[in-house]
Amino acid sequence: MSKPLSDHDRKKQISVRGLAGVENVADLKKNFNRHLHFTLVKDRNVSTKRDYYFALAHTVRDHLVGRWFRTQQSYYEKDPKRVYYLSLEFYMGRTLQNTMVNLALENACDEAVYQLGLDMEELQEMEEDAGLGNGGLGRLAACFLDSMASLGLAAYGYGIRYEFGIFNQKISSGWQVEEADDWLRYGNPWEKARPEYMHPVHFYGRTEHHPDGVKWVDTQVVLALPYDTPVPGYRNNIVNTMRLWSAKAPCEFSLKDFNVGGYIQAVLDRNLAENISRVLYPNDNFFEGKELRLKQEYFVVAATLQDIIRRFKASKFGSRDIVRTDFSTLPDKVAIQLNDTHPALAIPELMRVLIDEEKLPWEKAWDICIKTCAYTNHTVLPEALERWPIDLFQTLLPRHLEIIYEINRRHLERVSSLYPGDVDRMRRMSLIEEGGQKRVNMAHLCIVGSHAVNGVARIHSDILKATVDLYIHSPEKYFYEMDPHKFQNKTNGITPRRWLVMCNPGLAEVIAERIGEDFIRDLDQLKKLHDFFNDESFIRDIAKVKQENKLKFAVHLEEHYKVKINPNSMFDVQVKRIHEYKRQLLNCLHIITFYNRIKKEPNKQWTPRTIMIGGKAAPGYHTAKMIIRLITAIGEVVNNDPVVGDRLKVIFLENYRVTLAEKAIPAADLSEQISTAGTEASGTGNMKFMLNGALTIGTMDGANVEMAEEAGEGNIFIFGMRVEDVEAMDAKGYNASEFYNRIPELKQAIDQIAGGFFSPKQPDLFKDIVNMLMHHDRFKVFADYEDYIKCQEKVSALYKKPKEWTKKVILNIAGSGKFSSDRTISQYAREIWGVEPTLEKLAAPDDPK
Ligand SMILES: *Cc1c(COP(=O)(O)O)cnc(C)c1O
Repeated sequence: MSKPLSDHDRKKQISVRGLAGVENVADLKKNFNRHLHFTLVKDRNVSTKRDYYFALAHTVRDHLVGRWFRTQQSYYEKDPKRVYYLSLEFYMGRTLQNTMVNLALENACDEAVYQLGLDMEELQEMEEDAGLGNGGLGRLAACFLDSMASLGLAAYGYGIRYEFGIFNQKISSGWQVEEADDWLRYGNPWEKARPEYMHPVHFYGRTEHHPDGVKWVDTQVVLALPYDTPVPGYRNNIVNTMRLWSAKAPCEFSLKDFNVGGYIQAVLDRNLAENISRVLYPNDNFFEGKELRLKQEYFVVAATLQDIIRRFKASKFGSRDIVRTDFSTLPDKVAIQLNDTHPALAIPELMRVLIDEEKLPWEKAWDICIKTCAYTNHTVLPEALERWPIDLFQTLLPRHLEIIYEINRRHLERVSSLYPGDVDRMRRMSLIEEGGQKRVNMAHLCIVGSHAVNGVARIHSDILKATVDLYIHSPEKYFYEMDPHKFQNKTNGITPRRWLVMCNPGLAEVIAERIGEDFIRDLDQLKKLHDFFNDESFIRDIAKVKQENKLKFAVHLEEHYKVKINPNSMFDVQVKRIHEYKRQLLNCLHIITFYNRIKKEPNKQWTPRTIMIGGKAAPGYHTAKMIIRLITAIGEVVNNDPVVGDRLKVIFLENYRVTLAEKAIPAADLSEQISTAGTEASGTGNMKFMLNGALTIGTMDGANVEMAEEAGEGNIFIFGMRVEDVEAMDAKGYNASEFYNRIPELKQAIDQIAGGFFSPKQPDLFKDIVNMLMHHDRFKVFADYEDYIKCQEKVSALYKKPKEWTKKVILNIAGSGKFSSDRTISQYAREIWGVEPTLEKLAAPDDPK
């Protein structure tokens, strides 16, 4: 037998990783040593692995600089319509490898690092994730940045530079423990502070109404300091900008209020202002009405709009610099996309700037505002809806509240003229919710203030149209009825650069060997793999890559968690935020059922499984934390039962984040996408698994519906209630005990959880979970149990036939082209933003020698 290739040698063979020309490698080595010496001020005797990572990061970063200048200069010269993606989250993960992939430097860097006697993977492991997001919504923003740059759009991502991103999750005695994510401790080589572009942001104060307009006075000022991160397109020499704002207290902050004796306190109080960008709120799909969060939302919006308007004004007329003053052309030059309602204040803030500062009449300003803004809805869960109490608004943003009242007055006037006397409709469409605590409904504000409202998968967009106000399901559909032209669908996508080329180079390579490399920028070309569906060597290659990925992940798990894994077992993976609607509990019930069956018939030929579940629970979400505890408790029993052996293992994947997704997903055989139909707006995890050669077990929810369509219904494991069934069950009333009493294996599993079988030292540990499942389960876990178990039996049966399994895998990969974020962004560009994507390249600059 020949010696297995080392990681280094194996990767050298891979063409998609760029050329490792000799000169290239020599220059990289030289620059690496220069950075180690002059930038990090270290020599090799005292350098740590982290120093080497930073030296490499700076070496690679140098290749971005010329491209970044040139791209921005060309935008200034050509003055195309700019796209602004506003988001409170950008879940970027690591940057080094992504930059090498997009600049075709990966092989050359690998070779340089190897010749320097270092290990590329070890260096990469030193990079902190930029964890400035919670889950799908934040990761979507990151995938969109990659696609916007790759499609040559003059686009900007705008958000907050949180000093602490999503917390690090530790599992201690089976419980989630949160640790602060101090990701900037060693510095961030990918960002550049731009203190020369600071903007003031105002809070509190009061309004004065003068004959010549309204003044917002006596405000407190916080400065917004921009940090720019380059966003390279895929091998097109384009580098866009992600600009994140950090809060800075002004020099005079609180000083004027004090005499000399208060100086020390005044300096200490600067923290109050700077707390605005301190930490990401760790809620996924949940609204927590905290003042600091509202400050964050206004902070990003106010700073960003100042940038947008400055850039709009500073334009070109032919080759001359001019100052644009005619705001009626704003919608021709600017598109603002709101990632959920979090940056909804862009609408009243744009109105305030146009009216109070630029002195436009209301009607003109409103027309501009609607044409400029567009809103993406991400959920129909009512607990996620942002409904800010009026009192908070009145105190923090008094002028914006006045503007919202005026928007609402005119909006309701229109409703009443279209539907005279329909008081209930007026009440339900109002931006202001009356009754009890008065609140501003931010989704209503977004729908009224935008020219386009989109859902993120076809089924989700259809649900949006058919609901009265996005959240209350009812036969009425007031907003859609009034403005049907606004409502669109834009099915989510993922970037094939990070989620295939970067995380699964082996798979990218066996695909490229058959159909060339163009699929990386045109993912629909994966359809060509249909020609290889019966090709024995392709089937073998696909199965082999999966097996290699599984072995590698097994080694990673054994190193990090001291668990022994059977690499021949099916890797059954559910990774996503822990939430009742995502139904990790349904997965738990399958695990327990499978365990009980093995115990009942230990000599049967069970298909072995390693079931992995990972995800963070919001720190204040008690039920989600108990779900984690239940998973770890089940693992303790199952993993230590000698009768079971290695036929079933349950692993909780600690600290699920972008970097762990990149390791786990390429190793998965089975992807669990099992939300209650009608609750998961799209999902994007589902798409990552599909592209990486896992089969899906899922409900007809979110993008699963379109995945089934693209892969073929027979190539995905669909089970459970459809949206119509869920609605019918709601109408009649869901009764969990009906299922509990009728299905013996379900009863057994629940009785075990309730009786302390998985928590012998604390038999009533899971009483809240059991009580919820039995009496107030909004997500109807038991109703889908039976069909889910049957479906899992089919999964197990197919896994016993590796060739048939792999053929379905191929049909899934071949059908996954639709789920490229390049397709998603092309649709936003043409159907919402009015800009044309291109595959044109900018000329390459001189790279550092
Ligand atoms: C893709 C991704 C998600 C979203 O997963 P869903 O299954 O769609 O909820 C969440 N977290 C991370 C780290 C991801 O990469």
